[in-house]
Amino acid sequence: MLNTVLMLLVVACAMVAAHEAGHALLTRALGGRFLGIHVRGFLVGVRLSVKTLSTRQVAWTLAAGPFAEFLVVLAAIVISPKNIHWWLLILALQWIGNLTPWGLIPNDGTRLWQLWRRGAIDLTS
Ligand SMILES: [Zn+2]
Repeated sequence: MLNTVLMLLVVACAMVAAHEAGHALLTRALGGRFLGIHVRGFLVGVRLSVKTLSTRQVAWTLAAGPFAEFLVVLAAIVISPKNIHWWLLILALQWIGNLTPWGLIPNDGTRLWQLWRRGAIDLTS
């Protein structure tokens, strides 16, 4: 049981690091700027300048974080397939918390929802 808890902590920390790195790396690749790491309580984020990016590019940078988490979970499944239920559970919980546009906190889902509501993201093209 202790091993499982430790593995969950390691994967959760790796997911957080990969999530923020995903936002930062894609922003840089698209021409934006990484301004630093932002910590508020137990919430960690990155400060980015996306002024030079199109709205569609900003949407992709928002999606890059959850996608990076998926890659971490995929690696965890490859390394320890017997714990796939734990890896999928932690990914599901993270995505529910982060991609649901709660509106109360500026999570990725809320920001994507706001872009979509303003018509800035056209999912049909
Ligand atoms: Zn994010």
